[in-house]
Amino acid sequence: MIKPDHITTTTCPYCGVGCALQLHVKDDFIFKVTSPFDSPVNHGNLCVKGRFGYDFVYHPKRVTTPLIRKVKQEAGGRTQAFDLSEWREATWDEALDYVADRLVEIYKRDGSDAMAVYCCAKATNEDNYLLQKMYRALFRTNNVDHCTRLCHAGSVVALQQAVGSSAMSNTASQVIMNDVFIVTGSNTSENHPIISLQMKEAVEKHGAKMIVVDPRRIDLVDFAELWLPLKPGTNVPVFTAMAYVIVEENLVNHDFIDDRTEGYTEFLATLEKFTPEYAEELSGVPAGDIRKAARLYAKAKNAAIYWGMGISQLSHGTASALALIHLAFLTGHIGRDGTGLNPLRGQNNVQGASDMGAMPFHYPGYMRVDNEANAAKWEKTWNIEPGGLSRKLGLTTTEILGHAHEGGIRSLYIMGENPMMSEPNLNVTRQHMEQLEFLVSQDIFINESGAYADVFLPATPFAEKDGTFSNTDRRVQRVRAAHPPRGQSRPDWQILCDLAKRIESRLGPFDHTQGRLATAKWDYSNPEEILREMASVNEDYAGITYERIDKVGLIYPVPDMNHPGTPTLFTESFPRGRGKFHVLDYVPVREEPDDEYPFILTTGRLLEHWHGGTMTRNSALNEIYPEARVEIHPADAEIHGIRNGDPVKVQSRRGEVVMRATVTEKTTVGVIFVPWHFAEAAANLLTNDALDPQAKIPEFKACAVQVFPARESDLANPEAVLERGRY
Ligand code: SF4
Repeated sequence: MIKPDHITTTTCPYCGVGCALQLHVKDDFIFKVTSPFDSPVNHGNLCVKGRFGYDFVYHPKRVTTPLIRKVKQEAGGRTQAFDLSEWREATWDEALDYVADRLVEIYKRDGSDAMAVYCCAKATNEDNYLLQKMYRALFRTNNVDHCTRLCHAGSVVALQQAVGSSAMSNTASQVIMNDVFIVTGSNTSENHPIISLQMKEAVEKHGAKMIVVDPRRIDLVDFAELWLPLKPGTNVPVFTAMAYVIVEENLVNHDFIDDRTEGYTEFLATLEKFTPEYAEELSGVPAGDIRKAARLYAKAKNAAIYWGMGISQLSHGTASALALIHLAFLTGHIGRDGTGLNPLRGQNNVQGASDMGAMPFHYPGYMRVDNEANAAKWEKTWNIEPGGLSRKLGLTTTEILGHAHEGGIRSLYIMGENPMMSEPNLNVTRQHMEQLEFLVSQDIFINESGAYADVFLPATPFAEKDGTFSNTDRRVQRVRAAHPPRGQSRPDWQILCDLAKRIESRLGPFDHTQGRLATAKWDYSNPEEILREMASVNEDYAGITYERIDKVGLIYPVPDMNHPGTPTLFTESFPRGRGKFHVLDYVPVREEPDDEYPFILTTGRLLEHWHGGTMTRNSALNEIYPEARVEIHPADAEIHGIRNGDPVKVQSRRGEVVMRATVTEKTTVGVIFVPWHFAEAAANLLTNDALDPQAKIPEFKACAVQVFPARESDLANPEAVLERGRY
């Protein structure tokens, strides 16, 4: 048995559950991962990713030296370079000077609107705070966003509109306090495995009744009292029909509505058409089951709703989330322990990156950028002349690349994200990437997006840096380095401090600010200093120090140094005052099935992989699940002559991919499922780039496709793809 030199306690780099990890280290290598039993998040449990998905840290393809492309890239002709022979090694000084020179050149020439940055939901709070500060304080732009736009933007906008706060109202472990709970649009067992365990415990040990609303027969259905297998994109009619039943049968909590909400009368006036029969016609869910679900939820003493991207990743994602929020308002199932509204956040730190202001409309703490008082606070904190920060709302992730053209976005800085896997309609994304004049990738591998870059800045993964992540419960937890960085790689925050100083020194006086140059602080000696600067303005984090979160973290809001944290929100009121009902209508998905493309494609994650696969496909997890599979119902497979394991071509109006079939009743008739982790069969070559008009989130969850039997020779070789680069 190997005896570790030391064991480092840190936080999992994968999903938003935020499990505590113990990294067992010998000779600067992690050889085992366990978890402390006293962790309030996961009580010693880990899923396969947390337990076995760490060896990407030592993968031979990890880049640990700054790189510059040998052939200068031109806007309009930019190409991908996965092979190291197409790059040359550089010193940190040379690489950072080059990046600073080019960014400042473009900024001075074309102004703030030419600059854009993708922050990173996998990086720490401190990394994200610094990167948005760099772009706001130095380049005076709010073109700052990250992948929250692609997962829960619909939920965030809806919650902001209805209650004035977009985080989960309760902790996930409070699920056991409910006698009824709804899980919808979330394959929790694969996406948030430890929360799924807690849900099963609520059912099996505490007698709770679970209602699953999902087009797929996900694992949780086996534990559910009721399963409503709705057609993708019909959330609004199903949940509003539940509201109809609650009102019709007078299961309404009138005191809660009178005391805590507004807009009920207007909402009632629009309910008339949302009968369960109308919802059945659109969704395929039997009206009787909709009535049963409504009664179960409304009559419960304590009830909660948990949802995932099946709600938000639609061109009406905001409306879908509002339809859920209405159920909580009608019944008063919010504001107590257990009860509430819980959008399960995907990435390990998507909550934290959003809290840090890595978004185009908000400074840290969800302070609108177009609000004078907010801007003034950050100008003071960052030592910027009054009026210096931009009040103009920035572009979202989904808009930034669409503006990559002459007169639009000319430079893009990507920290840890991979739009060439995560954006919808990738053939168009590729054209946009080619139009950039200058692209920086700060990452650990050259992924599909980094392969387009001019400069690659090697950062460290979670196991080689300090900082904090904020999980889906709003629990702020420590991230700790287990060993020194490999090669010349550096923690993101250190790279950003050095780069910001270089940019600042090059800017000099210029027209855009019409004032003095910002002299914001960039010489932090440790990440905690960065967090404390942010917390000096963001009151939710005011009482958070590394010492206070050393053992188990703290759940924000933590408004002062003595505050114990706030697991349950909205006990007395909502941040916007009264909760607001909104008038909703049914809007179908943008692309319905037809004769030419008769299937609905829905996309999502697998237990063994994570997002674009930058980490998991370079880890032992790839041996467990090495290739993409399309799930198709046995009835559909028979009609199309497809057997389990056969190669299948999936085609949409935008692209096509070939992968093997899994014939399974996990999916319903007429619906096929493709995971989005596999570059050689990238699901987003098929998806539709229709956006929710308010949240700007793409419709990843529903588009029309056709399937055809294919030949073995049509399959991409995953090993070759991983070796050489992708599609
Ligand atoms: Fe990591 Fe999420 Fe698995 Fe926990 S449930 S080990 S946080 S991936």
